[in-house]
Amino acid sequence: MLWPNARIRHARNLEVQERVAAARRETPESEVWLGLLEAALDESEGGATTWDGAVPKPVADRPVKAPALSHTQVTLDGRAARAWVRSLLKLTPTVNPRRIDGLALLEAAVCYDDARIDAMAATAGAEPHALRVLGQMAALPLLQACARRLAGELPATWWEGYCPLCGAWPVAAEYTGLERQRRLRCGRCGTGWAIPLLRCVFCDETEHDKLGYLTPEAGEQTRKIEVCHTCKGYVKGVTTVRTLSPWAILLDDLTTVPLDVAALERGYRRPERPGYALDVQIEDSGGWWKFWRMVKAVPKQPPPTSTNLHDLDQPSPGRGA
Ligand SMILES: [Zn+2]
Ligand SMILES: [Zn+2]
Repeated sequence: MLWPNARIRHARNLEVQERVAAARRETPESEVWLGLLEAALDESEGGATTWDGAVPKPVADRPVKAPALSHTQVTLDGRAARAWVRSLLKLTPTVNPRRIDGLALLEAAVCYDDARIDAMAATAGAEPHALRVLGQMAALPLLQACARRLAGELPATWWEGYCPLCGAWPVAAEYTGLERQRRLRCGRCGTGWAIPLLRCVFCDETEHDKLGYLTPEAGEQTRKIEVCHTCKGYVKGVTTVRTLSPWAILLDDLTTVPLDVAALERGYRRPERPGYALDVQIEDSGGWWKFWRMVKAVPKQPPPTSTNLHDLDQPSPGRGA
């Protein structure tokens, strides 16, 4: 599952490598982010069997609007998962790796609970935004494993704007092939789902005069920014020949930051909170790590003194005979 040193790991997929290298040239200021993404994509591919093994079973009687992961319990090899998070922490200079509990960070990130991550950052003296980004990258292998394994369990039709698997808002609306059906894509697990063209992802607005789009001034014909005048939300629209793979969605989002800037400058934004709060619990499967923690948790007993021994021989009043 884990390589000894994250710095010498390389994404094995050649296409991923080429795209990441191109993104490095285009946006050198994103180096830290790209390093985390590359490590996460590599882990997602290389450690697939381990993460696949941790995919939980969806709760059968969850509400109809609840994503598949809501209220699930994920059991992970705590030692390996902590080592994985630590390898990412080492790539981020603004976060001190020794003061963050990897498993707690993973849980908060899967739940998209930024308030919890900010509290962890404050305790650890870390930069909160850096820890949020890192948390999302750390959760990627698990979330993408869930998307691979649970695709067959998702509802055939999903009318919500948030991801049917992980509850996040989409980062892109994808228009593929000749049909050009509008498909939303999650920027975490990569899940895609169809939604009508004239409908706001975030607030369900359907009035056509409240919905619009911004297009780049020159050149780019395959891009637009879909905006809603009611809630001021935006989502990037992209026309593709083939459906983009989950990693390509993430890279595409990073390499189209000028579109985000254009949207922000005009007063549009992405919602800060996720579409649906998941409440996933992550627990340690055990292994020697859990055993070690149990041993550590038992306070050391001083050697018995003659008085203690006497007490054992003579039960005190009230203890019962
Ligand atoms: Zn998702
Ligand atoms: Zn809206």
